[in-house]
Amino acid sequence: MKTICLAITAAFCITLAGCASTTNDSVSGVKRSQFMLLPASSVDTMSSQAYTETLKEAQTKKTLNVDKAMVDRVRGISNKLIAQVGVFRPDAVNWKWEVNVEKNDQLNAYCMPGGKIMVLSGLVEKINATDDELGAVIGHEIAHALREHGRERMSQAYVQQFGLQALAGFATGTTGAVAVQAAGMGSQLFFSLPNGREQEREADKMGLELAARAGYNPDAAVTLWQKMSAQSNGAPPEFLSTHPASENRIADLKALAPKVRPLYVAAKAKK
Ligand SMILES: [Zn+2]
Repeated sequence: MKTICLAITAAFCITLAGCASTTNDSVSGVKRSQFMLLPASSVDTMSSQAYTETLKEAQTKKTLNVDKAMVDRVRGISNKLIAQVGVFRPDAVNWKWEVNVEKNDQLNAYCMPGGKIMVLSGLVEKINATDDELGAVIGHEIAHALREHGRERMSQAYVQQFGLQALAGFATGTTGAVAVQAAGMGSQLFFSLPNGREQEREADKMGLELAARAGYNPDAAVTLWQKMSAQSNGAPPEFLSTHPASENRIADLKALAPKVRPLYVAAKAKK
């Protein structure tokens, strides 16, 4: 079944040009073509609805942006990263970016499609994260959004669930139905489908470049993983359950660091 799906996906890519890279080629070398069935507009609508819902819930629980100093710090770092996204895709400069901090012991952060960032306070507090380390982790999350990994894995899940029917609907122009069904699958899908290994590699690479361009030391990506791993006694941190800190991962980050270091040095010189 999986092979058939892959074959269909491949055929679809070739015949309808449903595949292209969402971002420009850059120093990090991320340029894989991606399969995108669902329209970006419906994914963005789902994303902003889910984000608004999350903010409302946090507000009710009085856990939204309670520590002003932390919020200012996280927003300051995020804004420096966001100022660099045009390098990877010019349209992202005009996204409606939002950055919030939720008081929550979990060690986690995410950026939903369209630029909706959430940092949980546990990430900052538990590992006593430096600005460079926060730049690394938020950069990684922003890279997932720039690459539209959420839309990509929802598209894959959609084809697996609805198969030919979905493709037929798409090909005959009834994308409205596709969008409605996609919305029905809702934000749970975004959170329940973990990023694949290749998507993680891309977010690591592009995130490292993004952070360097924003003036954050690329070595911090490695210390970040080491600090996260050190937290793993007992239950692993939320972030690590979806982002296993494998040796490969750290080796890849170390290998790419020299390539992006000139960007970091140049950014620092500008300040
Ligand atoms: Zn990730």
